[in-house]
Amino acid sequence: MFRSTVHKFIEKEFAPHQARWRQQHRPDAEAWTKAGELGILLSDVPAEYGGGGGTFAHETIVVEELAQAGIHFASFIQSSVAHYILAYASEDQKRNWLPRMARGELVGAIAMSEPAAGSDIGGIKTVARRDGDSYVINGSKTFVTNGWHAGIVCLAVKTDAKAAGLKGISLVIVETKDLPGYRVGRPLEKVGMHAQDTCELFFDEVRVPASNLLGPAEGLGFSQMMEKMSYERLAIGVAAVATAEQAVAITTEYVKERRAFGKPLIDFQNTRFKLAECKTEAHIGRVFLDNCIERFIVGQLDSVAAAQAKYWLTDCEGRIVDDCLQLHGGYGYMTEYPIARMWADSRVHRIYAGTNEILKELIAWSL
Ligand SMILES: Cc1cc2nc3c(=O)[nH]c(=O)nc-3n(C[C@H](O)[C@H](O)[C@H](O)COP(=O)(O)OP(=O)(O)OC[C@H]3O[C@@H](n4cnc5c(N)ncnc54)[C@H](O)[C@@H]3O)c2cc1C
Repeated sequence: MFRSTVHKFIEKEFAPHQARWRQQHRPDAEAWTKAGELGILLSDVPAEYGGGGGTFAHETIVVEELAQAGIHFASFIQSSVAHYILAYASEDQKRNWLPRMARGELVGAIAMSEPAAGSDIGGIKTVARRDGDSYVINGSKTFVTNGWHAGIVCLAVKTDAKAAGLKGISLVIVETKDLPGYRVGRPLEKVGMHAQDTCELFFDEVRVPASNLLGPAEGLGFSQMMEKMSYERLAIGVAAVATAEQAVAITTEYVKERRAFGKPLIDFQNTRFKLAECKTEAHIGRVFLDNCIERFIVGQLDSVAAAQAKYWLTDCEGRIVDDCLQLHGGYGYMTEYPIARMWADSRVHRIYAGTNEILKELIAWSL
């Protein structure tokens, strides 16, 4: 029932606006409040905080339906921010922020990457200086998904500017509305995901209450990220499998219709073998993903397994989508064809939330 509700909502409220969203480089603000009204946001956050009271299975459905429809709407980042708050904020803060996020009135973003520090997160330069009951923040962030609409930012800062590397990193929640010294850059021009607002954020003597530190103490930011990034990574794995399956489905249709040398493309052995390989790999991905989701729901998916899921499933997606594009010939390179957009949109899956190379390092630490 939930899937059918989400499917119909996306078809009616999101799909017709995609071309315009791509042009303006962001979804409409009302897209968030409409999704909130329907109960699509924070589906796996307890109902007492305004969430849907479901599990990651519900989130999976939202991510899959968005990916299959080719819609750029990062509700998984919204959920991810909510889970940082759920795990590390005070009871009052949870009751203040989470219901507004569930209604789509507050859009969440996670701001870790900086121009000179992406994979090397220990190199971040944004500093939060303690001043009485406040932190005063200076610095800048880049590549922030949901950056344009963000009303609440989970921000990685150095609370101890002298501490080397990963030590001294903390997470601070910033409510951005009418906040002096806070500025959003224009949405960045990307290869794909054009309707996604990916922005730079600037902080100039921005003052937030000291209680906005995700606690209980300073310097815990990196371990908090390690724990909570599994959520984002698994969600990207979900999008990867949904995209791969969709690519196989639309390509199978295409090669039955398109003809060359007097017969449909599917009559060439290469076409059949390629699609047989893609279908098999997508199925292996699905089985692995379902196993990861089951473990995640019962709290048994560690950060290594989440890294394995994100790296392997997005690599697999890349191979499948690329092969499927090839089977479309020149039309596969035309943006009006869904396979072309899938190819461009999915490329970032191997890069964000930790590049696949960094994830292999993380997996290797466990050996
Ligand atoms: C569309 C988009 C949305 C994003 N959204 C967000 C967001 O919401 N919030 C946020 O904080 N960030 C976001 N990011 C940033 C993203 O997480 C980073 O781009 C990513 O972590 C890589 O960092 P980098 O771009 O600085 O690349 P670099 O760190 O410069 O890496 C360049 C290359 O070197 C490789 N490399 C680096 N270190 C090693 C190593 N030790 N071993 C082997 N290889 C290595 C990398 O794997 C990569 O191939 C987003 C990025 C994009 C493109």
